[in-house]
Amino acid sequence: MPSGIYIRTKQHNENLSKAKKGKPTWNKGLTKEIDERVKKLSINRKGIKFTEEHKKNISLGHKDKSWEQIMNSKEKAEERKKRQSKITKGENNPFYNKKHTEKSRKQMSEASKGKKKKPFTEEHCKNIGKAQKGKKKKPFTKEAKKNMREAANRPEVKRKQIEFRKDKSYEEIFGSEEKAQKVKEKQSKSHKGKHSGTHIERYGEERAKEISEKISIIRRDKTWEEILGSKEKADERKRKQSERQMGEKNWNWRGGIGLEPYGPEFNNTLKQEIFERDHGICRVCKLNKEQLQFLFKRDKWIFHVHHIDYNKKNNKEENLINLCIKCHLVTNGNRDYWENYFSIRQIGALAC
Ligand SMILES: [Zn+2]
Repeated sequence: MPSGIYIRTKQHNENLSKAKKGKPTWNKGLTKEIDERVKKLSINRKGIKFTEEHKKNISLGHKDKSWEQIMNSKEKAEERKKRQSKITKGENNPFYNKKHTEKSRKQMSEASKGKKKKPFTEEHCKNIGKAQKGKKKKPFTKEAKKNMREAANRPEVKRKQIEFRKDKSYEEIFGSEEKAQKVKEKQSKSHKGKHSGTHIERYGEERAKEISEKISIIRRDKTWEEILGSKEKADERKRKQSERQMGEKNWNWRGGIGLEPYGPEFNNTLKQEIFERDHGICRVCKLNKEQLQFLFKRDKWIFHVHHIDYNKKNNKEENLINLCIKCHLVTNGNRDYWENYFSIRQIGALAC
């Protein structure tokens, strides 16, 4: 073969390729460690630097091509991938145990903005799963959680989610029956006592009370017409309310709203008795009706009769105590403390 530069014709190339087809290349399976020729080549190639232009050309030629296209054979591509994976696996990876700097992360994020990501192949997903198996997950940092929340709350994300979930069953959304079942179980657990059964169970007794008290504070100074949005609805509500309260002393309590699973004996008559027994004051803050009316800026809904042992069915007088609604809210927490507090005061009865 003459030395120097020569150019192969297309025909020449084809002939060579035909002759070589099926035959292994001369360096197949050889490495620089075991073969002199490969070693020599490797040494000769060391330090050769491609010019910027050459690099650009290679990159352009490879652009958007798969390894299969670049190497012109599926087997070769597979082999290369395997080799590459071996070289860069785990601790061998030049990036092992390293982290991107804040700057480069920002750059990557900027660069990928608006770009459509290719979905992972099923095999890739499986590999990720395999690699993660048995690994302890790091808890998310506060910052990461915040970012996730913000990302999930972006209107375009929410819209997409709603669109995606529209008319779909859980199985379709989560991709497998197993996952769907898990999600359902999780939800039913977290919703327990909130969204099942009767009106009372739906919110949980205490929560219902808390909410209705909060609502009453919000509704203060508003007419029913303002609250319900129409005169008819307001009239209807007033009529029902007055029916419920008919014949009862009801200037203190929200009679008959029916959120509370008390026994029938826990009526406004009993509440009035407890109120009078407790000298018409809140047994915690010791303020009387007039003072509380001034404080709460309203005439009604000032007092609650509280169950000292938190059992709403225990309507014995010694278990009941008159509280203003604000103090009653406070007794919702720290129950052991308050039970003890009231029990002691109930022994001395009305010494307050
Ligand atoms: Zn009070």
